[in-house]
Amino acid sequence: MKKRLGLVYGGKSAEHEVSLSTARAVTQALDLNKYEVLPIYITLQGEWLKGQPLEGPVTEIDILRLKKEGVSQPDHIEEFLKGDMPDVILPLLHGTNGEDGTVQGLFEVLNIPYAGNGVLASSAGMDKVVMKQLFAQAGLAQVEYIHFIRNAWQEDAAALLDQAEQKLSYPMFVKPANLGSSVGISKADDRNELQLAIELALRFDRKIIIEQGIQAREIEMAVLGNDHPEVSVAGEIRPVAEFYDYEAKYQDQSTELSIPAEISDPTARHMKDMAFRAFKVLDCSGLVRADFFVTQDDEVLINEVNTLPGFTPTSMFPLLWQKSGLAYPDLIDRLIELAFERHAEKQ
Ligand code: ATP
Ligand code: MG
Ligand code: MG
Ligand code: MG
Repeated sequence: MKKRLGLVYGGKSAEHEVSLSTARAVTQALDLNKYEVLPIYITLQGEWLKGQPLEGPVTEIDILRLKKEGVSQPDHIEEFLKGDMPDVILPLLHGTNGEDGTVQGLFEVLNIPYAGNGVLASSAGMDKVVMKQLFAQAGLAQVEYIHFIRNAWQEDAAALLDQAEQKLSYPMFVKPANLGSSVGISKADDRNELQLAIELALRFDRKIIIEQGIQAREIEMAVLGNDHPEVSVAGEIRPVAEFYDYEAKYQDQSTELSIPAEISDPTARHMKDMAFRAFKVLDCSGLVRADFFVTQDDEVLINEVNTLPGFTPTSMFPLLWQKSGLAYPDLIDRLIELAFERHAEKQ
């Protein structure tokens, strides 16, 4: 029998657009003999709109239709909760209100299996400060950093700039603690740029992290599984821009991905071990993309993990699995299987 697959996409997040392309690509690849696809679109304002089963990929027309249908339903999330529930949910959301454990919590209380990470791993993985603290506890090497909240900045900006300059040196990377796709991230080469970078990042989050900027290769690995996860081959990113910013990720075609990355066997083994440890310390399930820096003298530092990484056929996570022998449609099937497996274990 066909599984009723709830495809949740869009989202109240600065990464809304990224989610739309993922949803399109995933529906295109899904075997419609196996799945009945129920679209659940979350608008940028956070309304939940549910539509009829889809017979093809998500299109602009579907989104417009869902939005139009939604107008006559004053309380969409309530409609969603009252209606027929899918057998399993595939959350294709990035950033806040999707990758951060909030929707995962909703699916938990509704007792619906869902693909990917649970509440704890999602929220800990979304907050770069919490994530780094857990990584440190797991003994994973990473760059130096400081962090603070908006209130502290408003109270004494100069003191925080001094603190950053005491602990770190330029260039520094300033990031909103809870986001992705490089949204709100800038590289600062001096105190003036640092101040502007902080003000920009504070528009996206109340918590900010400032990291030591380093010159390093950027290498990623993909982890797939629940209690016995597997790690893919490594892939390298070579952005042409100064760093791997939003534009380089989604608009500019010139970023080069090289898979498998040219790294020595010991480095690859070390990185693999770090990817496992990162997965375990956050108590991940389903999938994670682990992002590393490799310095000139082959030191491996973990930058972050993404609990709901980019998932179009040209995104790193699916490409890494493709090179490891798992094609895109099979990868989606596997994630759904893992969702059922984890759900069964909880019962
Ligand atoms: P995503 O979730 O899309 O992977 P993100 O928004 O979580 O991205 P990061 O991966 O932390 O952001 O950083 C984005 C990019 O900025 C990195 O891929 C890298 O190019 C650059 N970068 C980030 N931190 C540093 C650093 N400390 N030193 C040098 N470059 C950095
Ligand atoms: Mg990230
Ligand atoms: Mg991300
Ligand atoms: Mg990253």
